[in-house]
This record gives sequence, C-alpha cells and structure tokens, in this order.
Amino acid sequence: MNPGDKLFGRFLARPSQSSEGRPPVEALQGIGLLLVLDEQGRILASSGQLRHALAQLPPSAEPCDLVDYVVPGSTQALEGRPADWSGQVLDLQLRGLAGKTLYLRGGVQRQGEQWLLHLLDIGDLVQQRQQTLNREQCQVLAAQVSEQLRLCTMSRLQEVLHDALGDLARCWRIPCVGLALLDEQEQGWMIQCCYHAHDAPRLWHDGQTLGSGLDSLGGNTVLRLNQIHGLNEHPRLQGIFAHREGLLVPYRDDHGVAAWLLCGDYPVQQHAPGLLERDWLMLAAALAGPLLGRLREYRNHLQMERLDALQGLLGAGWWELLADTAEVQLASQLAASLDLPEGHTRLGVEAWLELMHPADRAELASRLQELKLGKPLLLCVRLHQSEPGVATRWYRLQGQALGRGAQQRLVGFMLDISDIKNQQQQAAAAHARLDNLIASSPAVIYVQRYVEGALLPSFFSASLQPLLGWTLEDCNDGQWVQWIHPDDRDLYFQRCRQLLREGSVHSRYRLQDRQGNFHWVLDEARLLRNDLGLPVEAVGLWLDVTEATLAAEQVRQSEERYRILVEDSPAMICRYRPDLTLTFGNRPLAAYLECAAQDLPGSNLGQWLSAEQREGFERRLKLLSPEFPVSTAEISLQLPGREHAWWVWSDRGVFDEQGQLLEIQAVGRDNTEVRRSQQQLTQSAKMATLGEMATGLAHEINQPLNVMRMAIVNVLKRLGNGDIQIDYLTDKLNRIDAQVQRAARVVDHMRVFGRRSEVEQRPFNPAQAIEGTLSLMAEGMRGKGLDLRISELGFEVQVMGFVDQLEQVLINLLVNARDALLEKREAQNDFKPWIAIHGQRDEQRVRLWVEDNGGGIDPRLLERIFEPFFTTKPVGVGTGLGLSVSYGIIENMGGRLSVSNGQEGARFCIELPIVPADQITR
Ligand code: ADP
Repeated sequence: MNPGDKLFGRFLARPSQSSEGRPPVEALQGIGLLLVLDEQGRILASSGQLRHALAQLPPSAEPCDLVDYVVPGSTQALEGRPADWSGQVLDLQLRGLAGKTLYLRGGVQRQGEQWLLHLLDIGDLVQQRQQTLNREQCQVLAAQVSEQLRLCTMSRLQEVLHDALGDLARCWRIPCVGLALLDEQEQGWMIQCCYHAHDAPRLWHDGQTLGSGLDSLGGNTVLRLNQIHGLNEHPRLQGIFAHREGLLVPYRDDHGVAAWLLCGDYPVQQHAPGLLERDWLMLAAALAGPLLGRLREYRNHLQMERLDALQGLLGAGWWELLADTAEVQLASQLAASLDLPEGHTRLGVEAWLELMHPADRAELASRLQELKLGKPLLLCVRLHQSEPGVATRWYRLQGQALGRGAQQRLVGFMLDISDIKNQQQQAAAAHARLDNLIASSPAVIYVQRYVEGALLPSFFSASLQPLLGWTLEDCNDGQWVQWIHPDDRDLYFQRCRQLLREGSVHSRYRLQDRQGNFHWVLDEARLLRNDLGLPVEAVGLWLDVTEATLAAEQVRQSEERYRILVEDSPAMICRYRPDLTLTFGNRPLAAYLECAAQDLPGSNLGQWLSAEQREGFERRLKLLSPEFPVSTAEISLQLPGREHAWWVWSDRGVFDEQGQLLEIQAVGRDNTEVRRSQQQLTQSAKMATLGEMATGLAHEINQPLNVMRMAIVNVLKRLGNGDIQIDYLTDKLNRIDAQVQRAARVVDHMRVFGRRSEVEQRPFNPAQAIEGTLSLMAEGMRGKGLDLRISELGFEVQVMGFVDQLEQVLINLLVNARDALLEKREAQNDFKPWIAIHGQRDEQRVRLWVEDNGGGIDPRLLERIFEPFFTTKPVGVGTGLGLSVSYGIIENMGGRLSVSNGQEGARFCIELPIVPADQITR
C-alpha cells in the first residue's frame, strides 16, 4: 500500500466522522485543491493552493467540465457524475500550468445541491514511487547487463554489449545509444559499440573515432545537450550528436574518465523524466565497468602470452628473490630452460646458486647481497654442467631492487646468451689466431690516422718488431718518414696522395730497419671513411718482398745476359707458336728475313716456305712430344731477294702439363753455302760420271749408228743391183728409224741427267731411276761382255728426292762394278762377269741391291770406301768421290747407302723411306 493511501484513508474517513459538523474545507484549503462541482461534474468554483497550478482553461460562458482537466491517458479515467464517484478514492491527473501534470488524490462529498471535490497533491509521492520503480528497473538492468558482460566469452563480448545497449535503449526509449572508450593507444575516444532503434538516425557506428571532442568535458556529471544549453556550450559535441539533443554519461574508474555512455537524439526529460543522475551513472558503470575490466584483462592476457612466448623463445624469464624465505621464484619458462622439474618454479637461493658454474657462484652470491642494498645487478654466469663435452650455457643476469624497506622487492631477469657468448669466444679465438698469424708472418698490418690531410701511424701489428725492429713510439714527430729509403720518398708521398684520392693504393718501396738494412715492402692500403664520406684512417699491410725483389732483379739481370747472348748470337734464334706465328726472333733471323727484329713477332714463318716445305715442317712439329721434344732438319726457304736458302733448323717444343704443345724454340744455321757446294760437288761428280761414261756412251750411240750404216749399205747395195723390193726397203727404214729413236733417247736422257737437280725434292718411283740408268749404261755394259741381270721390281712405291740423283748413284755403283769386273777378267780369262740389280720393300722402306761377282772389297777397306777421295784406282782413273757423293745423296733422301761383301763380290744396298700414299701431293 502506498503511503499516500493511508493518508487518504484517514482523510476519506473524516467526513463521515464529522458529517454533522462543517467539513474541514479551510483546513484543506491551504494544502490542496477544493473544487465545487454541480451534479454534472462541472466546476463551479475552486479554492486551495493548488488552484494556481491548474491550467487555465479557455474562458467560456459555461463552467467547464472537470473531465476536460483530466490529462488524457490518466491512470484513472473519470466517468459518470459526481454522485457515481461518491465513496471512492479518486487518483486524478489534472493538467497544470506549462504542460505539467498535477497528481492529485481525493474524493467527493455532497453539499446540498453541489458536490465538493477535495484533492491533495500527491505529485511527490508519485514521483518518489516512479523513481523507486525506475531505480529498481535500473538496478535490475544494470545487474543483468554487468553480469552478462562479466560472464560471456571474450568472443561474444561485443555481441553481448550490443544486446545490452539494445536493452537499455528499449527500456528508456533511447533512439541512439553508444558506448565510447578511449582507444587502445589512448589517443582519443572511439565508439566501442552502438545501438540504433530501427527508426532512429544513424549517428554512429562501431569503431568510429571521435577524436578528442569528449576530452573537454569534466566527466564528473551527466551532461544533457539540448537547445537551451549544452549544445551551444560544447560546440565540439555538436558534430558527434549531429546537432540533436542528447545525453552524455561518464564512467570514471581509478584511471579517470574511462568511458562515456552517449544517448543521441534523446529528449531525456521527456522519455525518462524519472531517471536520476545517479541512475544514469549506475547504468553507465554497469556497462563500462565490466567491459573495461574484461578488455583490460584481455589485454593483460595477450601481454602475458606475448611475454611468455618471448621468454620461451629467448630461453629467458624473470626471477624474484624472496628475501624473507631466502627463496627464488622463477618464471615457468626460465625454470624449464634451467632444466628444473616441471611445476618447480620456486627454489632456495642456495639451490639456485648450485645451478651456476662453481666459478661464477661466489660472484653471484656477493652481487645478490649488494642487490639487497639497492645496487643493480648485471652479471654473466655459466650454468653448471656435469656432462663433459656439452657446450657451455651462458646467462645474462640482471636485477634491481623495487621499493624500500619492508616493501622492497628484488626482481630480475635471466637471458640465455650462449649464442652470443660462444660466438664471442669463437671470435676471440679467431682473433687470437689471426694475431698470432700476423705476428709470425712477414706481413705488418698498420693503421694510419687521418689528421687534417696527413696520415699518421697509429698502430702496427706485433710483426713490425721482428721485421724492422721499430715500435710505434719510434715514429713520433714524423720520424717515421726517415725509415723510407731517400730514393723512394717521393714515391711514398705520391702513394699517400693517391690513397686519399682513390681510396686504395698498391705500391712498393724500401724501408730501413733498426740495423740500417733496407727491406723492400709491398704496401697495400685502403682508406676507411666515416658516414659522411670523410677519411678516418688508412688500414694497410706491408709484405716483406726483399728476397723476391732481389731474386726478380737477379732473374732480370740473367735474362738480360741471355737476351744479349741471343741477340748477338750468329745463329738464328726464334720462338714461335704451333701455327708458326713468331713471338720472338733475334737480329740474325731478322737480317736473313730482311726486316727489323721488332717486326718479327706476329709474322708467320710459313710465308717463307713453299707449300711442300710448310707441310713437311708442320708434319715434323706434329711428331714433337714431351718425351721427344727436339727435332732437327734442313729446311729450304724462299727468302726475299735470294733464290733459295737452306737452313739447318733445330726445334724444341715447349709443352704444358697436359702435353699440349705451347710454343717452339728454334735455332737455325744457314746451310745454303754448304748446300750449294754440295750441289756443285754432286754436279761435278755427275759431270765426272758423264765423262766416265763417255766411252760407254760413245758405244751406246755407236751401236745404233752401226746398225743404221749396215742397213743403209745393204739398201744401197740392192739399189745398185736394181734388186730392191718395197718390203725390204720398208723393213730397213723401220730399223733405221728405231735406231734413230734409240740414239735420240740416249742423248735426250743425257741432257736431262746433265742438268742441275731441282731445288726441292719430289716423290718419284725408284724404278724410273733404274730405267734411266739402264738407258744410259746397258748397251755399253753389254758391249763389254758383262751380263746384266735386271729383275723387275714388281711393286710401285714413291720415294722423296731427285730422280737424277738416284740415277747418278746407280750409275756410280754400276761403273764401280764394271771396273772391278773388267779388272778381274783381265786376270782371269774364263771369267764370266755379271751385275745384278734387284729390289725389295717392306712397310716403310724400299731396298735396291746392286751386286757383282768382281770379288768384293778388301774387308779392311770396307769402312773407308765412302770417304771422299778414297780410291784404289790408279791416279787419273779414280777420283774417290763416287761413293762419298752417292752416300751424301742417299742420306739427303732420308735413306742409307751401305755395302757388304757377298759370296762373289761387292753388294751395295740403297735403302730409302717410302712416302706414305696419303702424303703424296702430286
Ligand atoms: P773411284 O771409283 O773413283 O775409285 P769410288 O768412291 O767410286 O771412287 O770407289 C772407291 C773405291 O771403292 C774404289 O776405288 C774401289 O776400290 C772400291 N770399290 C767400289 N766399288 C767396288 C766394287 N763393286 N768391287 C770392288 N771394289 C769396289
């Protein structure tokens, strides 16, 4: 029951108690409203305080009806007439001034013809009730919302918030409601979530940033925005609220204003007149409090996760020294990385120290004591590892004291730095090795500082001392330039300028050591610049190259000596590539080739060789090998301005590791004169042979002449007798013709034979020489009664040389045989002299034998008969040149002439190399 009901209960009871007395109109007049009504319920008169609060009805002649004063939609509808209302408690809501509603309660009482309506103002009671209702509703909603926000899963948080805003909006008829939070970086405000009624303007959206428009508000009270105030006072809010009415409810926590509940397009007075400021604050708190809690909790959770992951990855973690229990609390990841049993994150300080390497324990213990006194801790420690061979694990241990006195906490961090430490150790070891190496090497590493354009020594590696005996102190005050050889100083200064200009330099100069000896050093320097490109220092290396330099000098000198030797040598010396391109030729060679020595490199030796010579030359080079790198031959050249030159030419091949011919070094000697005299000798020998053969030849020609003469005599005789037949004459004339041809052939061949030999050798068939020889000799021999036993060769081969020269050899052998045979026949009458010629071949060679039965050569003379001028014949008969010239000819053809004694006489053998078929060009 309402407190007002009691009051009215009493009030309504009173008339019956005082029905016989005057109604307590006066008593009521002061506090309420007294209306005098007629039977129809029209107001005849009014009195009481509230009279002035009633709305003025338009004046009319007729008194107005009470019903017209009743606010439409009132809790209690007024129907019928006053007589019907008698005995009832009337709750009336009458129209007041300025659109206000008057909440009145009372009843009617008859007074004669009229009715008195007594009404008391219960506005306060109604409002109080309304507020109580509102508050209850608010509390229920707030409790429900905050519980939902607290309990929902994180993924549904936004959805739940949205629903909560929806509930709020529906409950208090708010068209647009949003919750603004500071964004994560706390840069400005942002709509975390908003709800719009379906017919409401879309003022905001989720995630919308609001800038700093809300910052200017105090955040202590609820702010109403309407046309009268607020909107104009806060121009920055106009944008946010689209110039509409609104309500802003702050939420404060220990960080200050942390959220705003925004109600847009909201005439709050109209829609929720009963809600008090504290109700709004409660609603905002119910929404924002749990939400912020959840969000902060979530952020913390993420942070923790990140931290955990980081600690796990780094093998690191925090620790806290619990001074009162002498224990250490470790982050779980750290405990795991220290190989503590799972879940074991707290251990005694002593046990913790036990985990460290014995070498580091005492230091750590002492530092922990210092930490308690407030001195920050920073120490690198190793873990104690009982297993040998396991890489050392290093930790960086940092700690600091937080707070003071009883509140002091000792916290720190441990970080696995094994990687860095091990690398550091490796680098240090490498460094030490390098230092060692440099110190024991003939190289000196130096650093020169750049000071205003000058380069001043600032560091030398320890190897300076053994090399030069100087130290860094010795080069103060520019002393160091004195070390440089006076002749090399210009070079050194030039090197400095070049280094500064180009950034690196490579030079070689002499430095004096403490004993006064000079060393050649190779200087490699590089300029280092700073970020701005300005020179900072030069780092360089000196390499002692004294020995190498002196050796090079010796080589140069010896090369010079050899060069002079080569240049001044009477022999022709040259180097050429396998394609016969000259790379070097000395002066004598250039003189022969009629050009300057410097023009020789690049020219081709082949240009002075005939096609055959060149072919033979190249063939000979192909036979050179690393095992047999040398070959000698006589080559014939066509030199400018000369007919032919003959050089004895020795080649030596130079090969690479794979046995590939790289170049040829050759020495040549001009053999033209020797060759010429040889040719002349051959020629004279040939002439001598011809002379020898003169008698034979006379016989050779005489024979056909005799035959012809006989034929002519016979013909003439027949002609004289007149007895001549045409057949007979024809026969004789044919015979004469055959003899003329025979004589002509002999003469012809003699002419050919008498000619000088060709300059170059040609391939020919040796049978041709045998035939030529016989054409000159056969008749003469037979005429002397010698039996010529000539065997057909029966094979075709080619040998290289001159056919007339082989003929000459054969003639010499035949003439010698003839002489021996005739001599023997003189002594022995029944002697039957014969000469045999026969031949034989194998793969490489052809052999021709000339044998006779003249008794042979005295074995003691066998070795000497090829000597020039050796003869057993009487003076004027033998020249002693025949066999020696023949020997030379056969040797020149690459063959060999030899002799032995057969059963009946001498047996000469001409052995000649066969030219392979594929090498015969014509
Ligand atoms: P020459 O015939 O002018 O003496 P050669 O050099 O031709 O000069 O011969 C040298 C010597 O070899 C001859 O004097 C001779 O004693 C000897 N001789 C050469 N051929 C024969 C032969 N077939 N039988 C015996 N002796 C020979």
